[in-house]
Amino acid sequence: MRPSGRLHLGHYHGVLKSWVKLQHEYDCFFCIVDWHALTTDYAEVGQLSQHVMDMAVDWLAAGVSPSSATLFVQSQVPEHAELHLLLSMICPLSWLERVPSYKEQQERQNGKDLATYGFLGYPLLQAADILLYRAGLVPVGADQLPHIEFAREVARRFNHLYGSEPDFELKAEAAIGKLGKKAGRLYSSLRKAYQEQGDAEALETARALLKEQSNITLGDQERLFGYLEGSAKVILAEPQPLLADPSRVPGLDGQKMAKSSGNAIFLRDGDAELEEKLRRMPTDPARVHRDDPGEPQRCPVWSLHQLYSPDERLHWVVEGCRSASIGCLDCKSALCSAVQTELAPLRLRAIDYEDSPDLVRSILAEGAERARDEARDTLAEVRLAMGLNY
Ligand code: SF4
Repeated sequence: MRPSGRLHLGHYHGVLKSWVKLQHEYDCFFCIVDWHALTTDYAEVGQLSQHVMDMAVDWLAAGVSPSSATLFVQSQVPEHAELHLLLSMICPLSWLERVPSYKEQQERQNGKDLATYGFLGYPLLQAADILLYRAGLVPVGADQLPHIEFAREVARRFNHLYGSEPDFELKAEAAIGKLGKKAGRLYSSLRKAYQEQGDAEALETARALLKEQSNITLGDQERLFGYLEGSAKVILAEPQPLLADPSRVPGLDGQKMAKSSGNAIFLRDGDAELEEKLRRMPTDPARVHRDDPGEPQRCPVWSLHQLYSPDERLHWVVEGCRSASIGCLDCKSALCSAVQTELAPLRLRAIDYEDSPDLVRSILAEGAERARDEARDTLAEVRLAMGLNY
């Protein structure tokens, strides 16, 4: 997650709640990607360290736990930079230029000069962040799918270039020569397909195809399969996306909640601040007077009720709004209590962490050490495969 300061309800419902669940189901690595913040905000670094600390506090307060998952800051694991550099040697420029968000973001970031090397390369940095841990699954929203596909392509290219066992080619060619031309041709085409796809499924398809070759003995089929497996050793695993629940949290104006839109409710907003924000929220414009009936579907307050209220209260809102038996202030007050009830324990935990910045720093430092253990293993293999073994 890119550090952008305090987190809001959009982050909480869209990401953090699912992380809290995932940390008990998988071996999770959650990373505050401070270098990614620099790819667009390189000229405004004054708040960066505070943003990182705020993000860590909010994660911890929301229940992301250092005893269940590894929490760390990207720049405290320098292996991310090394893998990014090594992958940059093999990543075609055209792959980066065609990433959909490249042009879009450049156009959106008005006032910032994003014709930089760092900005163009940020999807590759993200690929390095993922591939460094040989991640099987990456929890993302649908808008991030092209980035996961990009990471998969980079891994495939790396495995294709460096995945063969040392001297494998010579050994395989000599052995296959003895099996005859037909087997040799079959092996070459299977190998090409496997190296291009490079995953377990492709290997299974190849095995099934080999079994159909009645003119090649079973023993030779096994031998060919063995060569095929050895010819495309997977060094960097291809990650799969784990699609997050697309629940869209509306902001105070009914648009998507975002800090930059000024429509956010932050996890650490105090009771008075929350009351004030909800009080100012627009409602159905048809409800000019207290006794004008309204329609919840036209009201952003209703969207938040749907996130926070049980069925009984939802029913109360719909009936009360349409019949004008409740006023908008009654409706907002019920919502406010529900949000406060959910956020109160989280805020208390956040205060504890805010008061103990050294504790937060030590949690992140321990996380970075755990992450580095994994990262070092991957890089040792990567360096060896790329001939950097001195
Ligand atoms: Fe919106 Fe509730 Fe007012 Fe209806 S009663 S317009 S749902 S705030």
